[in-house]
Amino acid sequence: MQVREQVFIGGEWVAPDGTGTIDVVSTHSEEVIGRVPDASPADMDRAVAAARDAFDHGPWPRMTPAERAEGITRLSQAIQARAGEIADTISLENGSPKQWSLMGQVFSATMVLDTYAALAPGYGWEDDRTGALGSPVKVRRAPVGVAAGIIPWNVPLFIAALKLGPAMAAGCPIVLKPAPETPLDGYLLADAVAEADLPPGVINVVAAGRETGEHLVRHPGIDKVSFTGSTAVGRHIGAICGEQLKRCTLELGGKSAAIVLDDWVIDEASLGNLIMSGLMNNGQVCGAQSRILVSAKRHDEVVDALAAAVRAMKTGDPLEDDTHVGPLVAQRQQERVKGFLDAGVSAGASAVVGGGLPEHLETGWYIEPTVFVNVTNDMKIAREEIFGPVLSVIKYGTEEEAVAIANDSDYGLCGSVWTSDAQHGATIAAQVRTGVVAVNSSMILDFNAPFGGFKASGIGRELGPEGIGPYTEYQTIILPAG
Ligand code: NAP
Ligand code: MG
Repeated sequence: MQVREQVFIGGEWVAPDGTGTIDVVSTHSEEVIGRVPDASPADMDRAVAAARDAFDHGPWPRMTPAERAEGITRLSQAIQARAGEIADTISLENGSPKQWSLMGQVFSATMVLDTYAALAPGYGWEDDRTGALGSPVKVRRAPVGVAAGIIPWNVPLFIAALKLGPAMAAGCPIVLKPAPETPLDGYLLADAVAEADLPPGVINVVAAGRETGEHLVRHPGIDKVSFTGSTAVGRHIGAICGEQLKRCTLELGGKSAAIVLDDWVIDEASLGNLIMSGLMNNGQVCGAQSRILVSAKRHDEVVDALAAAVRAMKTGDPLEDDTHVGPLVAQRQQERVKGFLDAGVSAGASAVVGGGLPEHLETGWYIEPTVFVNVTNDMKIAREEIFGPVLSVIKYGTEEEAVAIANDSDYGLCGSVWTSDAQHGATIAAQVRTGVVAVNSSMILDFNAPFGGFKASGIGRELGPEGIGPYTEYQTIILPAG
C-alpha cells in the first residue's frame, strides 16, 4: 500500500488544505493499493502562487537555456533511478503490461526529457533581423509564463514529460494535475523532482479530481494550459481558454487507421508491429490503429494471420513478464468497451477472436483481445474511440478508397501504411489527414518531430523543437538605427 499524505508545492512536501482522499485500486486484483490526498481548490491556489513566484521572481526563467538543460537532465536521471518502481506502479494503476511499461511508460518519458535537454541550448530563442526601415530588430521567444499540465491516466509519466520538457526548456514553471486513477506515479515523479534540485515552484504536482482541475484551468495565475485527454473534455477546456484568452494546447482522442497495401509481406515481425500499433498498452493509447484497412484481395489471408497472432497473446496480470494484454484502467472502462463489443455484433460485425471477457481471470477489468471482421466504416466501433484491445478489419477496393476510409473520421491523430514499397507507402501516407503517419512501423510518434492532431484530435503540437514554441510568446524588440 502506497500512502501519501502531502502535496508537492513550491519544492516542498506540504500538508493539503482539506481531508479528502483518492483511493487507487489495482486494475488486476481490484484491491486498494494506494491513497493520496484529493487536493482542493485552495491547494491549487497555493501551487499556482508557488509557480507564479518562481516565474516572476525566481532564478529559473532567468537562467540560460543551457543551465535549464542541466536541470532537465537531473530530472531525467532521478526518474531513471526509480524506473522499475514507476513502471510497476503504473502497471498496477492502469493495467499497462510489464513488457511494455518500462519502455512505453518510463524510458519514453526520460527520453523526451533528454531530447529537450539536448534541444534547449541551441533552440532559436532569438533572431536578429534588419527591420523594414533598416533598423535592427530582435525577435525573441519569451517564456509564455506559468503553465498548467492536465494529465490523463493512460501514459501518465510520458504525457507529463511531453509538458515538462518544453516548459522547462522555455523557462515556464508548471503545475501538473495527474488523473485520479494514476496519482501514485505522479508522486514518484514529485520525489524525482525533489531530488533533481530545481528552484522551488518550477514543478508542482497536485493530484485532484475534476472540480479542482477546472479550478486550475480557470485560475488567473495560469498563462497556458496544456491538456491531454478526451475530445469531450478538450472542447470544454478549449472553450474556457478561449473565453479567457489563455494559450492552450489540446492533445485529444483518435480513431487511427492502418492501411495494409496489397504488396505487404506478412512475416512475424511485421505482423507483430501491425498488432502492436493497435493493441499497445491494451489499446489504451490515443494513437491506436484500431481500424485495419485491407483490400478484398488480401482480406482473408490477413485476417487469418491477425486472428492466429492475437489468439496466441496472453491476457492476464500486467506484472507477469509474459503478459501481452493487461486489464483496463477501471470497471467503468471495461463496461464501456463491453458496450462497444455488443454494438459491433448488433451492427453485423463478428469477432474472429475474442469478443468478450476472459473466463480464466477471476478479478480485474479485462477484455479479451478482439478482432472484428465484417466491419463497415459507418459502424459505431469504426467511428468512436474504444480505448481497449479491439481491432476492426475494414475491407476496401482500391488504394484511393483505402485513403478515403482512413480520412472518413472525425479524428486525425495517427495512422500507418504497410507495404513492401516504402516510397509508395510515403506517398499514400501524405494523403492521410492526420498528424503522424508511419510506414511499416508501430511508432505513433517520434521524439524529434511534432506530434498532435488534425480535426477533433486536437490543436497544437508537442515533441520536437516545435514542442517548445507553444511555451513561448514572440516578442519583437525594435532597436534604434545605427
Ligand atoms: P479525460 O476524462 O478527458 O481526462 C483527462 C484529464 O483531464 C484527467 O486528469 C481529468 O481528471 C481531467 N479533467 C476532466 N475534466 C476536466 C475539467 N473540466 N477541467 C480540468 N481537468 C479536467 O480523459 P481520460 O479518460 O483520463 O483519458 C483518456 C482519453 O485521453 C482518451 O480519449 C484518449 O484518446 C485521450 N488521450 C489523448 C492523447 C493525445 O496525446 N492525443 C494521449 C493520451 C490520451 P478527472 O478524471 O478527475 O476528470
Ligand atoms: Mg477521468
